[in-house]
Amino acid sequence: MAAKNFPSVFVSHGAPTIAQQATPATAFLKGLGVSLGGIHGRPKAVLCVSAHWETEKVMTSAAPAPETIHDFFGFPDPLYQLKYPAPGAPELAGRVVELLEDQNIPCAVSTDRGLDHGAWMPMMFMYPEADVPVTQLSIQPDQGPGAHLALGRALAPLRGEGVLVLASGSAVHNLGFFRSGSSDVADWARRFDDWLAATVEAGDAEALVDYRTSSPDGVQAHPRDEHFLPLLVALGAGAGAGGKDAKGRTLHRSFMDGALSMAAFAFE
Ligand code: ZN
Repeated sequence: MAAKNFPSVFVSHGAPTIAQQATPATAFLKGLGVSLGGIHGRPKAVLCVSAHWETEKVMTSAAPAPETIHDFFGFPDPLYQLKYPAPGAPELAGRVVELLEDQNIPCAVSTDRGLDHGAWMPMMFMYPEADVPVTQLSIQPDQGPGAHLALGRALAPLRGEGVLVLASGSAVHNLGFFRSGSSDVADWARRFDDWLAATVEAGDAEALVDYRTSSPDGVQAHPRDEHFLPLLVALGAGAGAGGKDAKGRTLHRSFMDGALSMAAFAFE
């Protein structure tokens, strides 16, 4: 039985090559499942909000045995052999639809959508036995950050139902500055990462929604919103009684491949 409500968690999933690496970020992800388990027990299921499932309208998946989707190109062959055979979570998908419709957010259900690498990569580190049921929720880049904060707020009750809301994106994500294996981090990337951690810890939801104008380097850190939007869902899902947004807690910070931030935060 869960000792108390799960936090909602945002993780940066990095490049697919992390599957074969031992870095501070992979050590963090491995320890995350263990540390959450020590406080909250095992989640009944995980709802993963991944940057790699983009839809026009909100969708979740009721696939009973989701396939592993290798939605990345030009990486070493062994990465395409990896499988993450966790069971799906059709009941959770039904509950997600109910919670969203309570807030007038229509949510469609796919019966066969599998797990993209935004979901299975972090799950592979956190729950390597692939024995925690998992389903996904899509993001809607056309709807912008505010809609994703609302989406998260609607999902907040899941935290008291033994469900881990795991949002997976990247704290800094500009592939124009991707430098495989480089530890040279650009100044603008560090500045945005510092701003993000401080703003998350201050619980400033308004500044996070308006990050493209309220932050230094917001547009350079995220030429498109899609890897940032899951963070807003985690922030909203961390809301407490009365819908008050939570101050976040920094769980991890590091960089890989030049400017790819691996920062992770918890909200409760
Ligand atoms: Zn990604």
